[in-house]
Amino acid sequence: MIPAASFAGKRVSLFGLGGSGIATAHALIAGGAEILTWDDNPDSVAKAAAAGIATGDLRGADWSRFAAFVLSPGVPLTHPKPHWTVELARGAGVEVIGDVELFCRERIQRAPAAPFIAITGTNGKSTTTALAAHILKSAERDTQMGGNIGRAIMTLDPPEPKRHYVVECSSYQIDLAPSINPTAGILLNLTPDHLDRHGTMAHYASIKERLVAGSDTAIIGVDDSWCAQIADRLERAGRQVIRISKRLPLTDGYFADGTNLMEAVHGRYSRIAFLEGIGSLRGQHNAQNALAAVAACLRVGLELGEIQAGLESFPGLAHRMEQVGRKDHVLFVNDSKATNADAAAPALSSFNRIYWIAGGLPKEGGIEPLRGFFPRIAKAYLIGEAAPAFSATLGEAVPYEISGTLAAAVEHAAHDAASDSGGEAVVLLSPACASFDQFKNFEVRGEAFRQAATAIDGVKPIGGPR
Ligand code: ADP
Repeated sequence: MIPAASFAGKRVSLFGLGGSGIATAHALIAGGAEILTWDDNPDSVAKAAAAGIATGDLRGADWSRFAAFVLSPGVPLTHPKPHWTVELARGAGVEVIGDVELFCRERIQRAPAAPFIAITGTNGKSTTTALAAHILKSAERDTQMGGNIGRAIMTLDPPEPKRHYVVECSSYQIDLAPSINPTAGILLNLTPDHLDRHGTMAHYASIKERLVAGSDTAIIGVDDSWCAQIADRLERAGRQVIRISKRLPLTDGYFADGTNLMEAVHGRYSRIAFLEGIGSLRGQHNAQNALAAVAACLRVGLELGEIQAGLESFPGLAHRMEQVGRKDHVLFVNDSKATNADAAAPALSSFNRIYWIAGGLPKEGGIEPLRGFFPRIAKAYLIGEAAPAFSATLGEAVPYEISGTLAAAVEHAAHDAASDSGGEAVVLLSPACASFDQFKNFEVRGEAFRQAATAIDGVKPIGGPR
């Protein structure tokens, strides 16, 4: 745990007593702050009280006595409207911050040289975070990973000069971290997402921009116009910017040429790493993630040999194009995290002979945006409530069956793929739907797929993510 000593002897209020809120409360107490915490959910308040954390309704508190207000990132700061606690804090002139801010202040106090890689973007955050942390760990660097992935940031080990931090940041966390100052800040990409929570695209982009604007080195994916403009703007402001592109040769920066990762210096190119044969990093989207992780690892002093070794041993993340098993030429891929059409697109674009398991609770727009990938689909196996609508979209373009359940879909898809003579055949769960009609969440759906696939006679399980 990182004691939050920056508020030693001061009063701090905190709202949001989920996992990260409780961890932050403990960190503040350990650092010597006097805290008062609250949550709209009485069960969470009871849990915190049982853990020895002071609780009390913040409506009745004397806000003028608080040095800071710590808000959990899940609670609205701005949109659709500020939470009532935010109004009270602002009214009393109390600064509103989050756990990432507490971490940044501790790092600056204790070990400002501790390498700190922070990652944001609309898509690929978790993969890039896990990959960068994996490369550092496999190069035997003291590495701590957390934030929006895995462990809450204040539960990590305290900053020391050679301790590396790899931290995934959601927009909400950035919004609550005004002094965020990573050694290498990564902004992967920007597409409309969660605009209900951010208002306009311009506002969403401006929050993401703050992470790279505060970085010693800004690593920015320039394949979309929002990010390209941010890179230009920061460079004009004199910041160190490293551009990455998953498709375009750049004059300066890092780009992907197929599975080769290239460095460009004033228009001269050299290969610095490659992804050929790395099953966990297939697809152009993963080239973007890998470029960002490689650029950040180079920035914090790793050597190319160490980086390549880390890329090659990366196990991948569960439920994101995760290879779960193989039988002869048939590969089973779990992409259960793809809960809408946009998220399913990367997997569909990464394979050529696809036995596609799709469906669940449909999202607006259905699978119409995926039409361009239909020629890659040998057959579709439709499950859940979306099946009738999806079958209507597939129409004559793709052979399909309504399998109903995931178990039936896996069995039928495996059977059909086994007799495919066109090279590697992929049984792919990339549902383009939420899971809630048949499963508790996408993780449970992905596990059900893994179990069904690996229970098939002769299927050998593949690695499995750590
Ligand atoms: P996040 O943490 O940002 O949600 P993940 O790494 O968990 O991202 O990946 C979630 C899904 O997003 C993946 O299954 C894949 O479909 C898609 N994805 C991953 N990386 C990228 C990327 N760089 N660009 C676009 N889509 C991506």
